[in-house]
Amino acid sequence: MKAAVVNSHHHVDVVDKKLRPLEHGEALLSMECCGVCHTDLHVKNGDFGDKTGVILGHEGIGVVKQIGPGVSSLKVGDRASVAWFFEGCGHCEYCTSGNETLCRNVKNAGYTVDGGMAEECIVVADYAVKVPDGLDSAAASSVTCAGVTTYKAVKVSDIKPGQWIAIYGLGGLGNLALQYAKNVFNAKVIAVDVNDNQLAFAKEMGADLVINSRTEDAAKFIQEKTGGAHAAVVTAVAKAAFNSAVDAVRAGARVVAVGLPPESMSLDIPRLVLDGIQVVGSLVGTRKDLTEAFQFAAEGKVVPKVTRRPIEDINTIFEEMEQGKIQGRMVIDFGQK
Ligand code: NAD
Ligand code: ZN
Ligand code: ZN
Repeated sequence: MKAAVVNSHHHVDVVDKKLRPLEHGEALLSMECCGVCHTDLHVKNGDFGDKTGVILGHEGIGVVKQIGPGVSSLKVGDRASVAWFFEGCGHCEYCTSGNETLCRNVKNAGYTVDGGMAEECIVVADYAVKVPDGLDSAAASSVTCAGVTTYKAVKVSDIKPGQWIAIYGLGGLGNLALQYAKNVFNAKVIAVDVNDNQLAFAKEMGADLVINSRTEDAAKFIQEKTGGAHAAVVTAVAKAAFNSAVDAVRAGARVVAVGLPPESMSLDIPRLVLDGIQVVGSLVGTRKDLTEAFQFAAEGKVVPKVTRRPIEDINTIFEEMEQGKIQGRMVIDFGQK
């Protein structure tokens, strides 16, 4: 089967691979599609360490082709996900307290274990979340990382209906953050990006205010227009956005860090202390979060913008991502029914 594998030159080779036989509790998915997340770009670039040899992909949707011994949560023919949160240990303090993505022995698809950017993928059945009927597989693939991550981040932001939330970065994650914030949490959204095309797209998706932080002081604009946002979610891959978000919110607000630029942000300590600002990280979402995120998409409240591409385009897609040319998500289509 064809698979997108990271090589030692920070490039991706499409190679022919053979998977091992299934073990207890595992299922084999025949992949329908897999979205290309900016995290895949970080992984192949070695931003989180050398990952030569790993099959990329953690926005995968496939159909169960075979189940191993002891599997009761999936059956042949079900559609299921390959997510970044691939498996937790199941018994640590994080796994047993609704924080399973923080498990210290976690496995991550397309990073510590082979992922879904391949014609077939082995998953741990109890950790592969089923896709509801009525949700197209390409749309579901986007929800598997971009959707659940931003749905969870908006939850973590503690935003209330009618309040202002600033979304920094309107790419693959950000446009879904916008839709979850508006259409599920009933918040008012300020979209901040450095690219006017992404801002035009955000307007189409219902952003109440848009601001280009390359040409204007976004924090000043947000303070003037809203009195300070009640929360911010930062998906931008640049520390400038994180610093701006802290300046854009009102006292008592929470800034949720989601983007992963491999650098440090600056925090003004008096601003943090005197204005009671909270800065918190948020990492993907639990299986329950993903079930909820899928359901809102199946109900049409959130509509991922996806473009289907062949696996051979993977290196071109990464170039387009680096150049900021992608609107919504590029999804590798394995052309299987
Ligand atoms: P993307 O490339 O699709 O989108 C990034 C967006 O940020 C683009 O629209 C870009 O124009 C914008 N941007 C760049 N610099 C900016 C700035 N200074 N201010 C405002 N906007 C700016 O990427 P994506 O797939 O949406 O992923 C975004 C980030 O989130 C990546 O770092 C990725 O690794 C990370 N991520 C984190 C999690 C998590 O669990 N926390 C999950 C998935 C992805
Ligand atoms: Zn991702
Ligand atoms: Zn655990």
